Amino acid sequence: AKRRGRGRPVRFHGALAASARYRRLIETDLRGAIARRELGLHYQPIVRAEDGETVGYEALLRWQHPARGPISPLDFIPVAEETGLIHEIGAFVLHEACREASRWTSGRSIAVNLSPVQFRNAALAAQVASALAASGLPATRLEVEITESVLLDASSNNLALLGQLKQLGLRIALDDFGTGYSSLSYLCTFRFDKIKIDRAFVREICVSREALAVVRAITGLSRSLAIATTAEGVETPDQAACLRREGCTQLQGYLYGKPMPASALPESGMALRAG
Ligand code: C2E
Ligand code: CA
Ligand code: CA
Ligand code: CA
Repeated sequence: AKRRGRGRPVRFHGALAASARYRRLIETDLRGAIARRELGLHYQPIVRAEDGETVGYEALLRWQHPARGPISPLDFIPVAEETGLIHEIGAFVLHEACREASRWTSGRSIAVNLSPVQFRNAALAAQVASALAASGLPATRLEVEITESVLLDASSNNLALLGQLKQLGLRIALDDFGTGYSSLSYLCTFRFDKIKIDRAFVREICVSREALAVVRAITGLSRSLAIATTAEGVETPDQAACLRREGCTQLQGYLYGKPMPASALPESGMALRAG
């Protein structure tokens, strides 16, 4: 297995990632990772396209494994989903993200990723409500990001659960839009507040007519439906300019800031230290 100390998360590709042995290793170590305080959140800025002003942050889960170093969420979230550990981890993320955001005097919002598996929990809305209540964060400052797979499961009552979340007063974003089975018709099945345009299109927007056409279709329909659009993975000023021209309302990516620990945020502790 590839191993490195600190630094970039190591991805376990292909056969290794898929192997039952690897999954068992991850599963064993993931149990109790919360209690051992190995899981934490990083925060990545989301800026207004118009003027580059930071409007909020997306919470992104990080696992600092004591022996293997940082492990990518792309490697451990699937294991958490298969084993059901995602319910406990998801609750941790919600509580931690709301608690952190409640300390920000800037009033900026916080976006939290929800796994489709979390929708198998009928008490999901109650769990979100409890994170809001415990932290004192107003629901209007919380956004949850879901992927279209939540909508794909036609037999489920996921739409009802989404309605319950909406009732709490938070915003709901459709993540990774344009990939997978994404269809523009999803935008009519539920009143989303925001669409996040997948990095795959953002990466190509300046060089591929097809990518530009997809972005144009998404921003056009969003505008008609009065839905905000965030482009993810913006890395260059040229990409930002193209996205602005297409009417994208928010931008997110390394150009504006990488995911960082709460202590590195401009709002970190300043008010507390001053006060
Ligand atoms: P995502 O929700 O699509 O998050 C965006 C990913 O793109 C993040 O990867 C982020 O670090 C990365 N990114 C942001 N800007 C750029 C950029 O300019 N260039 C490039 N190359 N990458 C950029 P990360 O943090 O590794 O997370 C990967 C995925 O893991 C997330 O994709 C999300 O699906 C999942 N994930 C992360 N945290 C959570 C969580 O708390 N709960 C759940 N259920 N899933 C999570
Ligand atoms: Ca996301
Ligand atoms: Ca995304
Ligand atoms: Ca993604």
